[in-house]
Amino acid sequence: MLRDTLKRMVTDLQDVVQYTLDINGKTHSMNNYIGKKVKISWSGVVVCGCGKKMDSFYRAGFCYKCFWESPLASQSIFKPELCTAHLGIEERNLEWEKEFQIAPHYVYLANSSGIKVGITRGSQGVVRWMDQGASQAILLAEVPNRRFSGDIEVSLKRFVADVTNWRKMLSGNPDSVDLVAMKEELSVHVPEELKQYILPDTKVTEIRYPVTQYPSKIKSVKLERTPILEGTLLGIKGQYLLFDGDRVFNIRSHEGFISEFSVQEIAQGTLF
Ligand SMILES: [Zn+2]
Repeated sequence: MLRDTLKRMVTDLQDVVQYTLDINGKTHSMNNYIGKKVKISWSGVVVCGCGKKMDSFYRAGFCYKCFWESPLASQSIFKPELCTAHLGIEERNLEWEKEFQIAPHYVYLANSSGIKVGITRGSQGVVRWMDQGASQAILLAEVPNRRFSGDIEVSLKRFVADVTNWRKMLSGNPDSVDLVAMKEELSVHVPEELKQYILPDTKVTEIRYPVTQYPSKIKSVKLERTPILEGTLLGIKGQYLLFDGDRVFNIRSHEGFISEFSVQEIAQGTLF
């Protein structure tokens, strides 16, 4: 059934971000569908990562059992500053937590709807930035575990946001910001014992998205309320599909929805 669930689009950083969606046994190059009619039909069933099927998730894309028991849904997933695996302290499953938390993590600054600070694991930086619809990003620090990145993030949250304002992100391109200067300013506020992890990098990654038209008054479509979504695709940014009628669809928040995806090829000279 996994082949028929919505999953995050795979992104590739080129001149313009290239998106592919894997569903119903096909890989779709989404950029080619801009200007065309696409249709997403939800079956009414969702499936949790554990394989359990139901008509709606309990919370945050998990079934009841996973939300309360899986290490993938533990508190420290949502609040990295609560990670304790590096101290050998278990939250839900120490083995899993050690593997996940005790690995290089990065703290970055990104400009998606204004400046935000974020953290990411290993080499996921650019992927993360594209998923958030950031237009510019810079690495700030590289730390040996998730907890330290959470600690840095907390110390910088007093000065910059730690969440993307997705409505703002979807209403246009943000003003360009001097991230190198911003990084220098904010680095001062990194806790003393973590300053050693600040990266000297001054490389700013610039990201462009395939958007022909931004919505003016955003209407977010949810399959729970509108199980069939049909319309002309006007662009893609972050993990959002932008449709005509100012509608936006967040693929990320519909992961696990068993659905059919189709595109209507417009044959020239044919009237529908
Ligand atoms: Zn589950």
